Amino acid sequence: MNAEGDVAAMGEVVLVGGGPGDPDLLTIGGLKALRSADVVLYDHLAPLACLDEAKPGASLIDVGKIPRGRQTAQAVINDLLIAHATRGARVVRFKGGDSFVLGRGSEEWQACAEAGVRVRVIPGVSSAIAGPELAGIPLTHRGLSQSFTVVSGHVGPDHPACTTNWDALARGSGTIVILMGVAHLGEICAGLIRRGLAADTPAAIVAKAAMPDQRVIRATVTSLPVLAEQAHVEPPALTVVGAVVGLDLRPNREH
Ligand code: SAH
Repeated sequence: MNAEGDVAAMGEVVLVGGGPGDPDLLTIGGLKALRSADVVLYDHLAPLACLDEAKPGASLIDVGKIPRGRQTAQAVINDLLIAHATRGARVVRFKGGDSFVLGRGSEEWQACAEAGVRVRVIPGVSSAIAGPELAGIPLTHRGLSQSFTVVSGHVGPDHPACTTNWDALARGSGTIVILMGVAHLGEICAGLIRRGLAADTPAAIVAKAAMPDQRVIRATVTSLPVLAEQAHVEPPALTVVGAVVGLDLRPNREH
């Protein structure tokens, strides 16, 4: 309800997962929401070309959080979502990937719900899945891996704030997908080896997946950090560790 207790005048917030980079990875539901929005709050990971789909006159607001760059505080984003919806606007929070995979979409959902703002979520294609796939790396493969785990690398395994069980990951047989791990790649790879992962385990980093300048570096968990640094890999990038990286399913691969 708004200040006057007027339910009818209330807008809504739709958390739209845009998929990574490529407009073709946005769902039809996401596209419909974007086309009918009065206000779109987007960040740099969303497929920005899709902003052209917003209706004329819609407000497009950049609320990006650039790693080590300009940041919009989460509380500011939450307040904007709530303020626009409360004045009756149809608000889309347009993100890259999926809103409920890492990132802070679930906090945005909670903030809206707590403020009495109608909120719903439209799933998107997560970069954790699309990124490896576009690089020719399946996350599971009969005989190689029966599971995958998506972990945040925003803190490394040796950081006091780390709550991921890297011991279990290192000793498991599944695929590990690390998001937000560029800055701590060395600590993560060395940490996995120290915890028992074979030093020759295949590993790859996929940078700017689904974007025209997508890059892939394939190596082992031992050599990847140095190779990624030499190649000046920058976020957004994700790392895949596991036997599946040894497969190479790129369609245009030279034989
Ligand atoms: N919710 C998003 C992830 C948000 S966390 C999703 O489902 O994809 C941000 C991290 O996602 C980045 O640090 C990076 O690891 C990964 N990421 C997002 N877009 C990417 C892209 N186009 N290419 C590679 N990694 C990407």
